[in-house]
Amino acid sequence: MKKGLMLIISGPAGSGKGTVNRHLLATGDFVYSISATTRAPRPEDTDGVTYHFISREEFISRIESGGMLEYTEYCGNFYGTPRKEAEAVLESGKNLILEIEVDGARQIKEKYPEAILIMLLPPSFKVQESRLRGRGTEPEEKILERLARTKEELRFVDSYDYVVYNYDGCDREAADKILAIVSAKNSSLPRNPSVMEKYFEA
Ligand code: 5GP
Repeated sequence: MKKGLMLIISGPAGSGKGTVNRHLLATGDFVYSISATTRAPRPEDTDGVTYHFISREEFISRIESGGMLEYTEYCGNFYGTPRKEAEAVLESGKNLILEIEVDGARQIKEKYPEAILIMLLPPSFKVQESRLRGRGTEPEEKILERLARTKEELRFVDSYDYVVYNYDGCDREAADKILAIVSAKNSSLPRNPSVMEKYFEA
């Protein structure tokens, strides 16, 4: 059995990562990697579902014991991918979705060159801005902070493998594009060793 693929999905606020990931998870071929974080839970969070909420001391001790596949400090809080859980999913043959930011994505690519790095984007910065304002849930200051952060993050887009645009109302199409990328990767020669031997043996 083939090991699962590691799929990194990054994208700025308003890119629709959550919705697109839900489509991928609904196929049953993917498992969502639940990150550990030291940030405080928000009303929409559930411990053990959206994140594992742990203390700073606990996080540092996990880094030191090699328990994090990657980690970063983002806006004053630690975020990281628990190693054991991630490795167990890949061994089971399921694909793992890591919804992480660019610094973590870079670390994963160094350790796992076969990981697929996808940048999910709104069609443009203007559309992103209107999506964030349209939500009407956040103060102007927070919106400006998220928009400023987008410019920072996109500076690293060249280290990604794919860019997928999420047009208004087209989140299913965006998920389908990601499924096509996964399917292409599974047909690649590195994922299919010993073609000749297997062909004649069957
Ligand atoms: P939020 O606090 O809004 O849930 O997440 C802030 C940022 O941290 C988002 O860009 C999110 O993708 C990223 N993030 C979440 N989990 C991880 C992780 O395990 N590792 C890294 N490197 N980034 C993460």
